[in-house]
Amino acid sequence: MAKSIVLFHEDLRCGDHQPLTEANAIGEVIPVYILDSKDPNQLGGASKIWLHHALTDLNQQLQKKICFLEGDPKKLLPELMAKHQINNLFCHERFDPYGIALQEALKQSIGFEKFHSFNGTLLWHPEEIHKSDGTPYRVFTPFYRKGCLQFGPLPRQPLPHIIPDKLTLIEEGCHLDELSLKSKLPWGKEIIQYWDISEQGAHNRLNTFIEHKLEGYKIQRDFPSQGHTSKLSPFLKWGMISVPTVWAQLNTLTNIPSKDLDHFKSELGWREFSYYLLHHFPKIIKENLNPNFDHFPWHEDDALLKAWQQGQTGYPIVDAAMRQLYATGYMHNRLRMVVGSFLVKNLTLHWHHGQDWFWDCLFDADIANNSAGWQWIAGCGADAAPYFRIFNPILQSQKFDKDGAFIHQWVPELAELPAPHCFQPWLTPKDVLDQANVKLGENYPNPIIDLTSSRDRALNAYSHLKSKKS
Ligand SMILES: Cc1cc2nc3c(=O)[nH]c(=O)nc-3n(C[C@H](O)[C@H](O)[C@H](O)COP(=O)(O)OP(=O)(O)OC[C@H]3O[C@@H](n4cnc5c(N)ncnc54)[C@H](O)[C@@H]3O)c2cc1C
Repeated sequence: MAKSIVLFHEDLRCGDHQPLTEANAIGEVIPVYILDSKDPNQLGGASKIWLHHALTDLNQQLQKKICFLEGDPKKLLPELMAKHQINNLFCHERFDPYGIALQEALKQSIGFEKFHSFNGTLLWHPEEIHKSDGTPYRVFTPFYRKGCLQFGPLPRQPLPHIIPDKLTLIEEGCHLDELSLKSKLPWGKEIIQYWDISEQGAHNRLNTFIEHKLEGYKIQRDFPSQGHTSKLSPFLKWGMISVPTVWAQLNTLTNIPSKDLDHFKSELGWREFSYYLLHHFPKIIKENLNPNFDHFPWHEDDALLKAWQQGQTGYPIVDAAMRQLYATGYMHNRLRMVVGSFLVKNLTLHWHHGQDWFWDCLFDADIANNSAGWQWIAGCGADAAPYFRIFNPILQSQKFDKDGAFIHQWVPELAELPAPHCFQPWLTPKDVLDQANVKLGENYPNPIIDLTSSRDRALNAYSHLKSKKS
């Protein structure tokens, strides 16, 4: 009977888990989770909290047999395998540069024949998709429509949920509570109240979304207060439900208009695209994909950055979104674009600042999606928003938060100020402000920047960049 480690990472589930299934088929299973102290992308605050709860659920499912360790997997795993005469290491393939290097090193140290990895993260492996000339795609639509959807073999069918027959706990590990994951701040308790952080919770969320919100998704997905998106992102990020599981379930639906179904699938396609870009252009984590942006005249201003982070910019839709992020670990996609554009184009602060804050606050903080998202918004990424596309927070509120419901929910100081006044309180007559108990500069800030002049400044800088390029 073989003895195998199943190494968990961002695949915290028992359903559609090929390493668990394969290891179980040949014998005894030793589940291991290592909090990696060497990973250059150390977890942000929100991620640690989510991870703690996700591991609690997984450990419960695996009869409390997970061996928890903290340190360098390159050192810990070969030692464990030698000490306990373990024959195999099963895991999912990683797509981040550090993870790829780590898995290569493990193959070398434990032996290629003992290392077994599977793609459990993506529908289409990035190596399989390329243009007819063999080079990688850089534009989403042909990548998805031609590269992925017309790729011969369909995404694989998900595997059944399993609990291995023989699970073994090895003693080296610590208690889950001893990993450096728990937040000492009250924030750690408050932020989880919006979520059921469990594998079952992931499936419930998918089912509820399909039942109530998928129909109408294509149009309604843009309206933050309507909750018409799936909020599956943290579950997908942490692998608590696999993307083949979601895809297969979508393919069984016969009563959803194809425009909604196809649009939702294409959003999963954007996730594939981010991972594809990360795989082919690993520098996107830190460097502009388009090097013309290397000379962009970014500003440094701690006070502006802090106002943005804390939702105190004086632009209510920006502030509402930033406060939603901090309170719930989530931000709606349209608002990620609005606050991102405000940071990089109106405040001209480097996209790294936005990337870092999102990394720290998002439950779905994901090395591929976050990096690609920020490059997209800054205009320096693949198939990015053009530099002249600067989201106007007031027009965005008028269009996507017409009655001000989202602002009222997250900026309580403005709860009594009706739309459209709550979109731009600084232009609101004093008697209306008084009636709504809004005292600008006292209980709600004046705008930290002028939209028109900051927009002109950005356009100027960007057009200078453009002329340098040509
Ligand atoms: C600046 C910026 C940073 C971002 N950072 C992240 C991040 O760290 N993690 C993350 O998962 N997403 C990120 N996104 C993408 C997107 O905003 C979220 O995936 C989406 O808002 C999650 O909400 P949902 O699950 O309700 O989405 P739905 O609309 O229900 O979409 C379903 C799934 O498709 C995927 N998806 C949707 N939109 C995108 C997109 N634009 N790019 C990639 N995948 C997408 C997600 O996995 C999502 O769960 C970022 C976008 C921007 C503009």
